Amino acid sequence: MKMFRIRKGDNVMVIAGKDADKDVPRKVLKILRKHDRILVEKVNLVKRHMRANPYAQQPGGIVEKEMPIHISNVMVVCPACHKPTRVGYRRIESEGKEKKVRFCKKCNEVME
Ligand SMILES: [Zn+2]
Repeated sequence: MKMFRIRKGDNVMVIAGKDADKDVPRKVLKILRKHDRILVEKVNLVKRHMRANPYAQQPGGIVEKEMPIHISNVMVVCPACHKPTRVGYRRIESEGKEKKVRFCKKCNEVME
């Protein structure tokens, strides 16, 4: 199986596309594995016209909604060195079991 280096809840930097912003880390909301895409908070927003739904007490109007972007457009921001980085995998032993963890290729810190 292909390794997915980005996880839900990670902070990422958008490096390509119309919402590229290399200064602001943004949170990953959802991973769409099948399509190699992710949803990132406030990135690739589209306006949707919502019909009012009186049963759900939902007012109609325009709402903004994130659309998925390709994972190659982002880099994970390392929680230790706060830089956009590439992520590697490393095996470690923990309580007698071997475990795979992610690490930052810049500062070498484990990212869990
Ligand atoms: Zn780092």
